[in-house]
Amino acid sequence: VTSMPSTSNAIPSNAMPPPAASTGRSSRIAPHSHIKGLGLNAEGFAMADSAGFVGQESAREACGVVVDLIKSRKFSGRALLLAGAPGTGKTALALAVAHELGSKVPFCPMVGSEVYSVEVKKTEVLAEAFRRAIGLRIKETKEVYEGEVTELTPAEAENPLSGYGKTVSHVIVGLKTVKGTKQLRLDPTIYEAILKEKIVVGDVVYVEANTGAVKRVGRSDAYASSYDLESETYVPLPKGEVHKKKELVQDVTLGDLDAANARPQGGQDIMSVMGGLVKTGRTEITEKLRREVERVVKGYVDQGVAEVVPGVVFIDEVHMLDIECFTYLNALLESPMAPTVILATNRGKALVRGTTDVYSPHGIPLDLLDRCLIVKTESYAREQVAKVVQLRATVEGLALGEGVLDRLAQEGEKGSLRYALQLLTPASILATLAGRKEINVEDIGEMNELFLDAKTSAGMIGDKGGFNGG
Ligand code: ATP
Repeated sequence: VTSMPSTSNAIPSNAMPPPAASTGRSSRIAPHSHIKGLGLNAEGFAMADSAGFVGQESAREACGVVVDLIKSRKFSGRALLLAGAPGTGKTALALAVAHELGSKVPFCPMVGSEVYSVEVKKTEVLAEAFRRAIGLRIKETKEVYEGEVTELTPAEAENPLSGYGKTVSHVIVGLKTVKGTKQLRLDPTIYEAILKEKIVVGDVVYVEANTGAVKRVGRSDAYASSYDLESETYVPLPKGEVHKKKELVQDVTLGDLDAANARPQGGQDIMSVMGGLVKTGRTEITEKLRREVERVVKGYVDQGVAEVVPGVVFIDEVHMLDIECFTYLNALLESPMAPTVILATNRGKALVRGTTDVYSPHGIPLDLLDRCLIVKTESYAREQVAKVVQLRATVEGLALGEGVLDRLAQEGEKGSLRYALQLLTPASILATLAGRKEINVEDIGEMNELFLDAKTSAGMIGDKGGFNGG
């Protein structure tokens, strides 16, 4: 293991894009962007239509109790199991729990069947999800120059043999700061990071005094203000301040660190540097590597440089896991760095996968079920479907014409809330094609003819005896 980097230059400040692994996950959370929390009052009672949540009062209140247990560290070794029909808000509840635990708490959703892959062992998939649900907030105070980029040129090496633009001896960054202009001569390796971040003339950047790392914080039209990383808002820039100390915060997960250390890249961005924590060369993510990463992280925590932010791992359709996975899940729950575990299922009594004769509630073995607090979600009434559809329409900027909400609510009650929500997007495309700003009842009708809700679909095929049926 490499020696611990000193606080002042351990992590360059150029921002990293969210790690690739999490992009797919965030798109899974997008349909829940209206959910801001559980919407409970100080006594823990559900407030009507609050924090984006409609109805489902008992489940929200029960989840509130779980949040209290987690916060007072009385939930370790246990799990929350949400049981209810599809589209009754189980994922939304899990996400709300993560929100209630604090901002920037990692939420890592997966579906039980994801463990079955040809390339990766079942238990590895679970282990990775758990690691991605453990956040790490790295804090550092750094000296930075702040200013608008007026010039950005990679300077050619003074070696006549090198072709133009191929060998670069240094990078010039011209900065217009509040005190005047300044030219900074930076290491050529910085240029790659600049290209990666797509920094251009006119951007407002921080240039770190020690390492020269560059981070974009805004555009020049925002130059009268400065971007505050903590609150993610622009704040007035104190006049005359150019070279100043800044507290920079980076959020990564243990999963990111594992991946970075298994395939070290070398470079200036944070993941490259964090990828040098453990000396491995190229390797798979092994248990040994994970323990090493944890050890280094613990060192950072002890130094006060990093803070561990335990998040939430959400396993939907948990009945799809098999007995081997359940056994491993039990072990993961025991580990000291375990995130909060939320499971969801829409099954009643079922065979535990991987066994031939073990039937148990929700297809979950009794020893795991014993550790679960079980919360039931209820189906929605028509008015509730209407409220959620309206919330989504507002978030997605869709205008609903006369009677559309009623019609969708009716469909939602007949099929499911999810079905009603799913009609919304194609109907809006239809409206746009027709040159209308508003979705009207005919759009919904047309979509409803093209697509089936699950109940109708199952019913139709059932009548005819299945796809092959006569
Ligand atoms: P499945 O088991 O099929 O995954 P689910 O129970 O997890 O379904 P969600 O995905 O949470 O259901 O819900 C479907 C959609 O409806 C989501 O966009 C979710 O945010 C929204 N939603 C569900 N319940 C509510 C609610 N009570 N208030 C507001 N929005 C809700």
